[in-house]
Amino acid sequence: MLSDKLWFDPAQVFIGGRWTAPFNGDGLPIEDPSTGSEIGLLAKGGTEDIDAAVAAAQSARLGDWGRMTATDRGRILSRLGQLILARAEDLAVIEALDVGKPLKQARADALALARYMEFYGGAADKLMGQTIPYLDGYTVYTLREPHGVTGHIVPWNYPMQIIGRSVGAALAMGNACVLKPAEEACLTALAFADLAHQAGLPAGALNVVPGLGAEAGAALSRHPGVHHLSFTGSVATGALVQAEAARNIVPVTLELGGKSPQLVFADADLDKALPFLVNAGIQNAGQTCSAASRILVERSRYGEVVDRMAAGYAQLRTGPALADLDLGPLISARQKGIVESYLALADDLTIAARGQIDPEAPAGGHYLAPALLSDVSPDHRLAREEIFGPVQVVIPFDSEEEAVAIANGTDYGLVASVWSDNGARQMRLARQLRAGQVFINNYGAGGGVELPFGGMGKSGHGREKGFEALYGFSVLKTVAAHHG
Ligand code: NAD
Repeated sequence: MLSDKLWFDPAQVFIGGRWTAPFNGDGLPIEDPSTGSEIGLLAKGGTEDIDAAVAAAQSARLGDWGRMTATDRGRILSRLGQLILARAEDLAVIEALDVGKPLKQARADALALARYMEFYGGAADKLMGQTIPYLDGYTVYTLREPHGVTGHIVPWNYPMQIIGRSVGAALAMGNACVLKPAEEACLTALAFADLAHQAGLPAGALNVVPGLGAEAGAALSRHPGVHHLSFTGSVATGALVQAEAARNIVPVTLELGGKSPQLVFADADLDKALPFLVNAGIQNAGQTCSAASRILVERSRYGEVVDRMAAGYAQLRTGPALADLDLGPLISARQKGIVESYLALADDLTIAARGQIDPEAPAGGHYLAPALLSDVSPDHRLAREEIFGPVQVVIPFDSEEEAVAIANGTDYGLVASVWSDNGARQMRLARQLRAGQVFINNYGAGGGVELPFGGMGKSGHGREKGFEALYGFSVLKTVAAHHG
């Protein structure tokens, strides 16, 4: 039961350190994707709630939060990390019910959220300015300052991880945040706000307004009181957010989609590669921006890789989140419809394997058996467009040059990996591949919070995660003092 796990009322917004009903009193149903049933009511915040949240954030910047030392900010984030660890199991169950992800994935996300707070708690007082040698009689130095009020619009697929990497870094730098989670998955965002309050975060430093994208999201992106926007989601919405930000001349970080390739050369250690080839495609039912949805294989081993991946697919089981199988349901009936319409483009010959749906899975859940597609041309829509579901295509190549051309041949550039024992090739391809992260003989490197992450092309711009994010969530000021 969801209500047994919640210690806050999701029908309320969190603004200025207080839980209140949304301005217009509206609510949205909370659906469990594993059953398709309504399991609660969510606050439907709108323009007035965003206005109030931005005002609360502005007050926090002028008050205790704005005056707090970096060390004290770091202490609060570190305490928040401890509180998250103490409630990790509750957070995991809440997320599993809300998003439909298998419990083991939800547990990993809760631990990642805690780890972000530890990392950014420790980093808060480590970013320093410089002194700059200049003309005689001058002392010149730089200061790293917060933007002020930062807006964070996040999607439903990894709420805890994405909140951790964006809000965590923004708070570490002293910004006051307004968070608009996705309407499909808001519960852990609200839980995070409550734990942050318990950890001692001053009122207004973090405000959470659930609501529809076209209402609360749009209101946040066009708000003139916001000084920086961080958006994670689809390309189409990212373009809208960037256009709104442009009107206010506000910097934007965009973390958008991907069609990420893994390149498997004939000299690769296939035993090592195979679990990564499959898992990086089906994790979170393929609803992962960095999903490895394209597997490019040197022709001499193409048949072997397809056969071995197909054998892996035959073992994959899909079922309710709390049953903790390999895959959970997709987030919504709408998302399932999108993935099915892509699969309708595949013909029988190209479907190399499908996984199974657990016979016990509730009929109302949004289940879709994962699909492995072979012999798809690199020009086909299935090989070029982001499907955002458990679908992978396997494509042969005949030379290193062709592999790079296919890998770089989509609009996206988020993540890529190279499987090869040839050291020179590893180094060459790390430079030639158009992606924000390149992995050699692995994929994802465990997803560490330390690793800067972000895209090229339509995968977006700006970097989150790691120390690099602290630069994005701060602004540089130059001070030139003339003293003769
Ligand atoms: P989406 O763009 O529909 O929604 C993302 C967020 O934007 C939600 O909070 C939504 O409410 C909000 N939104 C919707 N319309 C808005 C508007 N007009 N103005 C402001 N905000 C608005 O995306 P989605 O379907 O929720 O997520 C899936 C997409 O996100 C995929 O394309 C995926 O690749 C991408 N994604 C990228 C990353 C990354 O780090 N690069 C991570 C997760 C998801």
